[in-house]
Amino acid sequence: MTELSGGPSLPQRRKLVTEIPGPLSRELMARKQAAVAAGVGTVMPVFAARAGGGVVEDVDGNSLIDFGSGIAVTSVGNSAEAVVRRAGEQLARLTHTCVMVTPYEGYVEVCEELARLTPGDHAKKSILLNSGAEAVENAVKIARYHTKRQAVVVFEHGYHGRTNLTMALTSKSMPYKHGFGPFAPEIYRVPMAYPYRWPTGPEHCADEAAAQVIDQITKQIGASETAAIVVEPVLGEGGFIVPARGFLPRVAAFAKEHGIVLIADEIQSGFCRTGQWFACEDEGIVPDLITTAKGIAGGLPLAAVTGRAEIMDAVHSGGLGGTYGGNPVACAAALGAIETMRELDLAARARHIEEIMKPRLLALAEKHPLIGDVRGRGAMLAVEIVKPGTKDPDPAATAAVAAACHRAGLVVLTTGTYGNVLRFLPPLVIGDDLLREGLDIVAEAVASV
Ligand SMILES: *Cc1c(COP(=O)(O)O)cnc(C)c1O
Repeated sequence: MTELSGGPSLPQRRKLVTEIPGPLSRELMARKQAAVAAGVGTVMPVFAARAGGGVVEDVDGNSLIDFGSGIAVTSVGNSAEAVVRRAGEQLARLTHTCVMVTPYEGYVEVCEELARLTPGDHAKKSILLNSGAEAVENAVKIARYHTKRQAVVVFEHGYHGRTNLTMALTSKSMPYKHGFGPFAPEIYRVPMAYPYRWPTGPEHCADEAAAQVIDQITKQIGASETAAIVVEPVLGEGGFIVPARGFLPRVAAFAKEHGIVLIADEIQSGFCRTGQWFACEDEGIVPDLITTAKGIAGGLPLAAVTGRAEIMDAVHSGGLGGTYGGNPVACAAALGAIETMRELDLAARARHIEEIMKPRLLALAEKHPLIGDVRGRGAMLAVEIVKPGTKDPDPAATAAVAAACHRAGLVVLTTGTYGNVLRFLPPLVIGDDLLREGLDIVAEAVASV
């Protein structure tokens, strides 16, 4: 797959030449501690030097297998050929004029692509921003303006960002909200159809959760007061929860019936990650607005809100924007990333990754009772780690498995409301051999804990 990824010609193999972290990484870590704010955490104390395809090479010359993609960002691989080519050309032509001063074609082209790629054949428009949180904030602004309503409904285990409004939308206190209040008002949290932890069992999850959501909105918030429902079609930071089948269509139908704007937050699940362009396609959901970021631009900062033209156009001229939103270099990178996704059919590639990984993870769960659940779609997969024989979350064992993976040269991330989910987000261009080797490391790490 090296030739397909088109990234820097890094050998696609794992190679450890020092202990992890090596001496140069440790030196840089000391400098980081002295100069960088302590609030900026580190998953793996290893400094990256180059990356491409399915590997990250560190400053000590170790080559690590990448099961993180910089948190679901470098789906097309790091420094993918079309991203480097297009962004490089743009960098030499102009770096910034501000779309609100003198616009440029790349911004329009990205919005045209978003209209083509996102679900639904209605007329669509977009705005481009810098980060996922900014996209979610703008989606809420637009929905409130359009509906002239204020309440925003979000879900348990949901994650939407770290700005003031998006902290309020986010479910988990530590580390995202702890100490940062007061939070924005008129945000209401309702249950998520979380099959593994549904009290009456997964088979009742979709129906009961949908009924509770509808009841709470109707009785406690007021459907006619509700501007928007914001939902991740596959939850990211909440633990790669795939809502029980049937839940999202019922929520979507309820939103439609009451003129509530349905906002799908596809910042983590979008752009081929789950085996389709967007995760909400799986159950045929057509959201009114969709937020995207992470995988959109091959590593450059870009985000978008895309949605029904009549909703997007509700806001007065000058009411939306920002100095850097839709930067020309980031737009060129996005066009390169989208070109790569099309040419290599990376949605199919994500399904292929699932076909390799899911059976291995399920077999591992059979063997090791500390794996309580295996879930996810495409190349957005996870295992939930519990105390054997119970469903009690075991964040300590999860951290130990992750640390064992890191020592063996596999970049892997943990997540989840209870900190007990090991998540796998390989670049979609990773080769099968590296994928299998990464899985071997996970298996050894689980066995060692
Ligand atoms: C990462 C993420 C965000 C926030 O994006 P940033 O670019 O970090 O601001 C919002 N929603 C979801 C679902 C995410 O995964």
